[in-house]
Amino acid sequence: KNLQIAIDGPAGAGKSTIAKAIAKRLGIFYVDTGAMYRAIALKSLRLNIPVDHEEEVGHMVQQTEIELDHSEERRVFCDGQDVTEAIRSPEVSRKVSTIAAYPVVRQRLVQLQRQEAKRGAVIMDGRDIGTFVLPEADLKIFLTASIEERAHRRWRELLKAGKEVPVNEVKQDMEKRDRQDTEREASPLQPAHDALILDTTELTIEEIVDRIIALTDR
Ligand code: C5P
Repeated sequence: KNLQIAIDGPAGAGKSTIAKAIAKRLGIFYVDTGAMYRAIALKSLRLNIPVDHEEEVGHMVQQTEIELDHSEERRVFCDGQDVTEAIRSPEVSRKVSTIAAYPVVRQRLVQLQRQEAKRGAVIMDGRDIGTFVLPEADLKIFLTASIEERAHRRWRELLKAGKEVPVNEVKQDMEKRDRQDTEREASPLQPAHDALILDTTELTIEEIVDRIIALTDR
């Protein structure tokens, strides 16, 4: 069986940065499942489908193609259109947890994610990878950090991308999203019973990456 690593945790815990670094070091695939939920949220916004219309969103998701490019650029395509930058907007971040709570959305995206995992050895990040998408993963990590640290990390990322948002706003959006992700019925955000919980507040990216790699005997 191919190596499978599951990385879960709340927003801004460093999941994607760490997963990308590990994928590069080990030469394995990286699958960003949050990007898929974001692409659906973006499409709802662009088509003016209110995100609280579960039935319409559910219908739309059945007719949507999402593709992740596995080159260094890691571009995200939705119905053939490059949405890599657009899915990171604060507007998408605010709406995504609403559509992610819908079982029909999750069913479709989880199917896609499991298909991606068949390509070969993989590291996948999200909210329900260890608990639901890849229950047989060889290594399950649940990354956390204080809300202050997570909000600051996201704020710095947005700033680097040329978006100036007050840090307090980032923090409030993040807390709301985590609450929605934790409280939903379908695959809520929670550590798998066999996950290793890693608090990254005081650790550098290098330290976390080294620790996780040491745990995969590669
Ligand atoms: O990882 P990222 O912050 O980009 O994820 C965006 C949102 O997508 C999360 O807040 C959550 O609502 C949803 N998501 C999910 N399950 C996953 C990955 C993301 O519900 N496996």
